Amino acid sequence: MSYLPDALETLIGELTRLPGIGRKTAQRLVFCLLRAPGEAPRQLAEALERVARDVTFCPRCFNLAEQGALCKICADPRRREAVICVVETPTDLIAIERAGGFDGRYHVLGGAINPLEGVGPEDLHIDDLISRLQEGGVEELILASNATLDGDTTALYLARIVQPLGIAVTRLARGLPMGGDLEFADEHTISRALQARTRFES
Ligand SMILES: [Zn+2]
Repeated sequence: MSYLPDALETLIGELTRLPGIGRKTAQRLVFCLLRAPGEAPRQLAEALERVARDVTFCPRCFNLAEQGALCKICADPRRREAVICVVETPTDLIAIERAGGFDGRYHVLGGAINPLEGVGPEDLHIDDLISRLQEGGVEELILASNATLDGDTTALYLARIVQPLGIAVTRLARGLPMGGDLEFADEHTISRALQARTRFES
């Protein structure tokens, strides 16, 4: 049985539902908050409440946004309209943004096609993507779904629909990780890197 007040038990219980947080870590976080000076617990509570209340999906690209408005990328006039990068989730979008160098727009599918788990094209934001493309002005669609069976299935499905629209369809290259030794790479990665080899520019 627990010797902690119910309020603390409830909070610990909620925290352990998060990935990577076990009971010990949750307990440590809660005690750290209790020891924190001033308004820290209340500020955290308010931040959580704001997320629950205000965070929505962008009506255009389905990235995370606030209060039903366009996301920061769709609202940014400096981003090129002619290139759309298709990703599975908002976290994939963050990964590409963190890498820098992409100045186009995105479209977040909300997952990948997985027939075994009953996820079909109609469960993803594919119709919304086609409507966007039919508005015109898009010259290239970059398929940045994951390098998994589901990601590849999704990319193939999209390529088949989008290519007839006269839009260039590209796929992220597969290759060796930076700083990685060839001898530690798996054979699938090596064979894809070999297929996607590029001319040496010196
Ligand atoms: Zn958006």
